[in-house]
This record gives sequence, structure tokens and C-alpha cells, in this order.
Amino acid sequence: MTAPLTAEVILPVSFCETLTYLVPEELREQIAPGCRVLVPLRGKQAQMGIVMALYEALEVNYKLKDIKALVDHVPVMSQTQLSFWKWIASYYACKIGEVMMAALPTGLKSEDAYKAKTESVLYLSPLYRSEPSCQELLHGLQTKAKKQYLLLERFLSMKSEEFAVRKADLLLLDDSSPAALKALIDKGILEVQQQEVSRLKVLQADENRLLQLSPAQEQAYREIHQHWQTKDICLLHGVTSSGKTEIYSRLIKEVLAENKQVLYLLPEIALTTQMTQRLKKIFGPQMLIYHSKCSMNERVEMWHRILQEDGPLLVVGVRSSVFLPFTRLGLVVVDEEHEISYKQSEPAPRYHARNAALMLAKMHHAKAILGSATPSLESYTKAREGRYGLVNLTQRYRDIQLPEIILADINEAKRKKELVAMFTPTLVENMQACLQAGEQIILFHNRRGYASVMSCKECDWTPHCERCDVPLTYHKESHSLRCHYCGRQYPIPSRCPSCGKAMMASFGFGTEQVEEALHQLFPQARVARMDTDVLHERNAIGQLIEDFEQQKTDILIGTQMLTKGLDFDHVALVGVLNADTMLNQNDFRAHERAFQLMVQVSGRAGRKGRRGRVVLQTRDPEQPLIQRVLHYDYLSYYVDAMKERHTFCYPPYCYLIDVWFKHTSQAKVQQAAQYFANVLQPLFPDMVFGPFEPAVAKVRDVHIQKLSLKIAPSQSLLKIKDYLCGLQAHLQKDPLTKQVQIYFDVDPL
Ligand code: ADP
Ligand code: ZN
Ligand code: ZN
Repeated sequence: MTAPLTAEVILPVSFCETLTYLVPEELREQIAPGCRVLVPLRGKQAQMGIVMALYEALEVNYKLKDIKALVDHVPVMSQTQLSFWKWIASYYACKIGEVMMAALPTGLKSEDAYKAKTESVLYLSPLYRSEPSCQELLHGLQTKAKKQYLLLERFLSMKSEEFAVRKADLLLLDDSSPAALKALIDKGILEVQQQEVSRLKVLQADENRLLQLSPAQEQAYREIHQHWQTKDICLLHGVTSSGKTEIYSRLIKEVLAENKQVLYLLPEIALTTQMTQRLKKIFGPQMLIYHSKCSMNERVEMWHRILQEDGPLLVVGVRSSVFLPFTRLGLVVVDEEHEISYKQSEPAPRYHARNAALMLAKMHHAKAILGSATPSLESYTKAREGRYGLVNLTQRYRDIQLPEIILADINEAKRKKELVAMFTPTLVENMQACLQAGEQIILFHNRRGYASVMSCKECDWTPHCERCDVPLTYHKESHSLRCHYCGRQYPIPSRCPSCGKAMMASFGFGTEQVEEALHQLFPQARVARMDTDVLHERNAIGQLIEDFEQQKTDILIGTQMLTKGLDFDHVALVGVLNADTMLNQNDFRAHERAFQLMVQVSGRAGRKGRRGRVVLQTRDPEQPLIQRVLHYDYLSYYVDAMKERHTFCYPPYCYLIDVWFKHTSQAKVQQAAQYFANVLQPLFPDMVFGPFEPAVAKVRDVHIQKLSLKIAPSQSLLKIKDYLCGLQAHLQKDPLTKQVQIYFDVDPL
């Protein structure tokens, strides 16, 4: 008798790790790691899970439950992918079931969720497939049934080798006659069949060729190859508009020619239609685009195509595309590698798509390239240490100079009473000159809404959200106050609830207010606004970008979103309305982000043709960081920033893990957080911070506390995470604290 076979099964739950089940005799031959199975779980009879591993058991454990059914006879994921899930769960200190929930498309999570798309296909009856019988048929119809004759002629001109034509294609033309078709079917000349078809659009390549690289690009391209001989990862530090995309394209082409797969990560698809259009032109049918707007069924079809197709394939996608079932990954490209939107903060797994993609590349023995004009301190440090290859591209394409940056002192303008709304005279003059010359302007402001907050002029009372611990933002368009955390809207109080006076006023300013001020200043100018309020409207962003591209808009006002790799040809001027708001934030990464934002947004000016200009409004022109931006001095900025990180011991000089505690009872949150702190303090003296309330300590009535742990590079991250998970498990057994949600954020951003 053979030994019993057991299966370790991943389940889409967060309350346990994998569970072990018995494999019934009749499934023994077909079951394999990566197959989906149905198993009993907590009273549920058929929970979908995935087989992670199979083991021969030494003896029968009668407590084990049987697998109820095997869903797949061919695994829906590969061994490498299973290893990748394990790594994610281990590195980001979460359950592998949580990885499964995030990684597996909904359409694969339950047995009947996915519906194949079918359509009618018409076949010529076998009776008429020979040339003489066909001619005879046509001859007969020509005199007696003209419409049927014409339709059959069209059918014959369109038919495939299998004598088939899609019904929709046949009836596409205006003069087509459904009645004639019905007659042909009734006579048994054509036969209809329902067939499964793919939902995935076949993208057409417009020009199947790459652009000629400039000498500087050529040089960078060669250096990347040189580094790849000894290192798998290369950082391309190329100024804005240096043509990084062209270099990636060249590298992608080579890898596809080896019949391999390429993953091209982008921080955001809605804002990068320009980029995907360019890639589409080159790679067309070999390219898939994976983003949040793909339907459930499309995701399943992409999954299968990536898993099963053995041809070359380029997947362009947002962060979650690291979970796709690559089988022959040859190259990973991470564009704008510094972007914080690569990090998922909610829910688990709280992974960083750049770092995860690098691990994925390693597992596939693939090469990787990270690109940015403003690399993250983490990546640049690894490059300086020689762990990554470093390639610099310091010239813009066609040698156009980087935009000239002019500082405009807000305080000085105020003192001289020259400030017009939020604009300094320098900015106003430059805008005027631009508009007169018919050129375009981008204005950057990192606050949406009308004014950041509203308060009582008399007593300073500020309206807060009832469910979240945040001040409300005034939105003029809807004439309401809005919570940017939970989205709830409130009417504007006519009197101050605190002192009773009718003295509500707004201060600070948001993008809406900028728009209004522009209308007053330049009534003729066509102004558009791009911020997350607009993002919620479907297709609004694409339209905004297109209008600006076609010069239907003169001035585009926007938030962070403007910095993400947009490429416009006629922008002569970029205005940064308030550089200081970015600097004065209570976060050790505030300066890093401010530098990245300012350099990136400046890069939107003067990309083709003439040199562009940037006006940077600030209250503190002498600020060292502003000075670094002024000269595009990445290296000095890097040295400054690293000094500071070293002095205060922050990444990349240490690792950070945040522990979060959430519950509606403040007392329970406190108790759980304090328990962690008490245990950890003596073990990691001076490295435990908190527990404290984060900047927003209550959201939707849930109280929040946070504990931060710094970990020296010499310590074992893995052991510490195990220890933390142990504490978490302990508290989740204690009746007092077991309802408190506790989770870890490894490498928080
Ligand atoms: P980056 O990503 O470095 O900011 P892009 O790849 O967007 O730069 O290139 C900037 C602009 O220059 C784009 O409009 C691109 O089409 C053009 N460009 C770059 N390299 C070439 C080239 N070798 N030939 C023709 N046009 C190029
Ligand atoms: Zn709220
Ligand atoms: Zn008041």
C-alpha cells in the first residue's frame, strides 16, 4: 500500500497560514502544486484554495480532512510564482493567504466567476466546399436570390482556411442583409456555431521599427549591457526628456527576440497613456496592458495568456502586475522607480512593487533596469555601492537645455504689496509673455480643493470630520466642506459653533482657487484643472491630457499628478506656486519628495524645440534644498540628504517597520500598542518609537496607534519579523485584545 499523500493548501484568509489536507486516492495522479482545489474550512464545505506543496505522509493522520475536489488539471500558477508569494509573505510580514487574495484575479478565486465570451461563427457547409459545387450554388442564387448571392460572395472573399467568418464581421457593412443571412442558414448553406473568443484586444503596431538612438542614448545603452555582464540590476539616472523610453524599447526588443517575457512597470496608467501609446506603436500585438480598469474577465484571460502562450510578450502594467504568472521572464523595467505609488499601503500585502519586481527578476534569472531622473535614495545608494550598475544620461534628447529655473520670493512680493492673489510679479510677467506668444503653461500646486482649511476668524475654531480626526477642506464648486479621508461632505456652518459669530473664513489656497484667480487675471486664457477630484470622473484625465496636447488649453493647473512622466511639446513655462508647503512636512522623507516633485515638474517645460522656463515661488529662496533644485544638482542633494539620514538614523541606514493598531475602542488600541512597546523596548533600546497617535488618529470612528521600529542593517530582519508575528499571535489569543487589528508595514513610505 502506498503512503498517504497530503497537500499544503493556501487559503484566501488572514487568520491562519497554510492548512494541510489529505489527497483522496482518485486525485493522486492529477494533483500538482499550483492547482486549485476545493476544501472544507470552518464549516464552509467548498473553499477555493491553491496547492502549495505535496508531501508523502509517513502515517495516516485521521484528523486531516479530505480535499473535496480538484478544480484544475493543469496548474494555474507556476512554481516560481509560489516561491514569489512565499517571499512576499515573509518579507512583508503577512499571511500567504493575504498574498493570494491580492495576487489571484477575482475570476480565478471562485469556480464560476469567470465567463468565457462567445460569439457566432459562420461555416460554409461541407457540401459546397469544393470549387465546382460552390460555383454551381452561386450560379443558382445569382438569378433567383440576388441578396443572398451578394452576401455569399462576401462570405467567400472573407473566409478563413477553415471556411469560417465571424458573423459580426460579415454583417459589418451597412448594406448587409440579416434576412439574406437567415435564408442562407435555413437552406443549410451556412452553419452557425458558438465559439469562445478572447476579450483581449490585439494591439496594432503602427510602425514596426525603433527610433534611431542619439549618440548619448547609444552610449547609455551600451553601458547598460556592460553592467549586465556582471550585475543583474542597472539604474538609469537620466534627466527628464533624455529619452529613457527609447533605450528601454531597444532593450525590450532584444529580449522579446529571444522569445522571452518582459514586465514594464509604470506607476500609473491613466496618466501614462502617452507612454503606452508609444510602446504600442512599437510592440503592438506582443503587448498587454494590465491596469485597474481591466474587467474581471479580461484579467483571467490575460492570466491564461501569460501562463500558456509560448511566444514573446511584453506586459505593461501597474504595481499589481508583479503577480502575473510569468513563465519566461527575461527583463523587468521599472520606470520612474522613485514613485511612491509603487508601494501598496492598504491592504496587505504592503509591498513595494519595485522591490518585489526585482525579487521576481532574480527568481527568473532575468535582468532588470530601474529608471528615473530623480532616483530614490535607496536605489541610488545601492548603485553607488556597486550593487547595481549605474548609468548616467545627462543630456536631453536633441541637446535641449534643462529649463532655466527662476526663484520668486513670495515674502518680498508681499512686502512690496505686489502679490496678485497667489502670484508673484515674476510669475505674472512670465505667464503674460507666454500667453501672448501662444505658448502653454503648467502650474503646479500640491493642494486640491479651494482652500486647505476654513476657520473662525474670531476664535480660530476649525471644522473637523466627525468620524475622522482631520480638518475639513473647503470645496467651492460644491460649496461644501469635505473630508479627504472618508469623503463625507458637510454644509458650511453659517455661524461658528464655538463662539457663535458669523466669521468663517478660509486660508491657504487650493487648485480650485488658483483656477479662479487665473480667470480674473487672464480672462481670455483657457484654463483646465487636473487633480484627484477630476480623476474620479471616468476618462476625464485622458480628455484633459488630449486637450492640452492639442493646445485646446492654455494653462493646466494640477497637483502631484502632473509630475508623472507627461510629455507635452509646447509647454514654455512651469510655475510652482508654493515650494515651501512641500518642505514643511513632518516626515523624514519630505525633502526627498520635494526635490523629486520640483525636478520632475520642472522637466515638463520646454521638452521639444526651445529651452523652457520654471518660476519657483518660495518664502525662503536661500533654503539649501531649493538651491539644489535651482541647479538640478542631484548629487549634492543626495549627499545632503544622506548626511541627514545618517545623523538621525533613517533608511537607507536602517530598516523601518511600522506596527499599526486599530479598533473602535481607544482603550483596547492603547493596551495592545503598549504591550508591544513594553516587550520591544528592552530588546531594542533606543530603536522603538511610540506608541503614538499618527497625524490622523481616527478614521471612520476607528482609533489608530502606531509604533515604529528601527532595525540596524546588522540585525536579522527575518528573525525580528518572526518575533513580531509571535507577539501579534499572542495578542490575538488574549480575549481583551483579540479584536484589535494589528499589522506590520515593512519599509513604510
Ligand atoms: P524621458 O522618459 O527620459 O523623460 P522620453 O523618453 O519621454 O524621455 O523622451 C522625450 C521626448 O524625446 C519624447 O517625445 C521622445 O519621443 C523624444 N525622443 C527621445 N529619444 C528620441 C530618439 N532617439 N529619436 C527621436 N525622438 C526621441
Ligand atoms: Zn472623515
Ligand atoms: Zn468662533
